[in-house]
Amino acid sequence: MSSSLPVFYNCQRCPAYCCSYARIEVKKADLRRLARHFDIGIGTARRRFTKAGLDDGERVLQHKPDETFGTVCHFLDTATRECTVYEARPEICRDFPGLVRCGYYDFLSFERRMLQDDDYVSTTYNRPEEEDGTPSEV
Ligand code: SF4
Ligand code: SF4
Repeated sequence: MSSSLPVFYNCQRCPAYCCSYARIEVKKADLRRLARHFDIGIGTARRRFTKAGLDDGERVLQHKPDETFGTVCHFLDTATRECTVYEARPEICRDFPGLVRCGYYDFLSFERRMLQDDDYVSTTYNRPEEEDGTPSEV
């Protein structure tokens, strides 16, 4: 999002819902950047940080458990809600939401207004459950 355009969301006031998306694609250039950031090989970065996506050959960021959204990107600090690899984050993270509004932030703002609680966090739970009700592997 160009900094010259006004935007109607504030990532600093958000628990990073977009980092809970299951499909955060990591392309070759993203892998190269992550590998450089950690000073490791591209193959190691691929194995360590990504998993198979839906499409053939697609790689997506690995997740870890999170109390707010069920699971979130491996790189999200679940306490501060900040990206731990901000300078090396994938292109898709840089581009999101790509509009002047963010749907989750609109929802969050609405809930906070209705509840008159500026710190309220709207949760979702995107961690699929096994048949016995326990959360599945991430
Ligand atoms: S969900 Fe929207 S407001 Fe929240 S961190 Fe992502 S882009 Fe920012
Ligand atoms: S790399 Fe950073 S910005 Fe991208 S999904 Fe993970 S925590 Fe969020």
